[in-house]
Amino acid sequence: MKYEGMIFRPPSEAESLILQVTVGCSYNRCTFCSAYQGKSFRMKRFDEVKEDIDEVSSYGVKIPRIFLADGDALVLPQKDLVQIMSYLKEKLPWLGRVGIYANARDILRKDLEELRELKDLGLGIVYLGLESGNAEVLKRIKKNATVEQLVRAAKRVKEAKILLSVTVILGLGGVEMSRAHADDTGKVLSEMDPDFVGALSLIVVPGTPVEKEIATGQLVLPTPFGMIEELEGMIDHLQCTHCFFASNHASNYLPLRVRMPEEKEEALKRIREVLKKRDPALLRPEYFRAL
Ligand code: SF4
Repeated sequence: MKYEGMIFRPPSEAESLILQVTVGCSYNRCTFCSAYQGKSFRMKRFDEVKEDIDEVSSYGVKIPRIFLADGDALVLPQKDLVQIMSYLKEKLPWLGRVGIYANARDILRKDLEELRELKDLGLGIVYLGLESGNAEVLKRIKKNATVEQLVRAAKRVKEAKILLSVTVILGLGGVEMSRAHADDTGKVLSEMDPDFVGALSLIVVPGTPVEKEIATGQLVLPTPFGMIEELEGMIDHLQCTHCFFASNHASNYLPLRVRMPEEKEEALKRIREVLKKRDPALLRPEYFRAL
C-alpha cells in the first residue's frame, strides 16, 4: 500500500484497512486542525488506487472493513467514487463496510440518489465533523460550513440510510463561549440525530492558528473541569432516537461510553459526581492525553 504522509482514521476504524484515495484535506483551514498541515491536497488517480486494491486482494485475507482516507475523501467526484467502490466490490466481494470522512459541503454536493448509489456499493458509514453547534464558534474556528448546512448534510446521510458518526470538540469556544458551545452542540446533535457521537477535547498543536489565539489571549481554554462541564451540557441537551456517545478518545479527561437515551441519566449522574468532587485524580492525567 502506498501511503503519502501521516494517515488518520477514526478510533472506530482501528481494525479497518486504510485505502488512501485522496491526499490531505481539500479545505485544510480549520484553526485547530494540524492533521494535514504541509500536505498539498490531491485526488489520487484511479490507477494508483487500483494498484492498492489489487495488492489487498492478492493477500487472500478476508478484510471485513475498509476506510477511505484522507481528510474528506467524499470530495471525490461521484464517478470516481463509484469507480473505486465498484472495483472494491469486484475484488473484495466479502467486504462488509466502507467508511469515509466527509465535510458538510462534500455531502451537500451529492444528492440523495448519489449517496444511495454509494450506499448500494458498500458505503456504510460517514464521519462528519460538527465540532460545535454554535454559529459564532464555527465562525471563529473557520469551519467551512454553517450550522444549517451541517444539519442538512447530516440529515441527507441518514436519509440515504448510511450510518452517521459526528465529532464534536470540547473547549473549542474557550471560556467565553463555553456554555453556549456545550448547549448548542447538544441541541444541534439532537437535530442531526446521528448513530454515533465522538467527543474530543481540544489539544493545542504548535503551529496552528489556535495556538496563536491562546498566546495572544484571544482564546482562553477552559480548565479540565470546565471541559467536563461542557460534556455535561452537551449530554444534557442531547435527545437522540438511538445513538452511542463516546468520550473515550485519548484527548479527553473523562472517558465515557453512553448508549443514548437509555444511559443518559446514569452518565449525567457520573459527570455531576466528578464535578462535585473536583478531584484531579478522577481525570485522565495531562501526560496521557493525546490526539
Ligand atoms: S478539521 Fe477536517 S475539514 Fe477542517 S482542516 Fe482538519 S481535516 Fe480539514
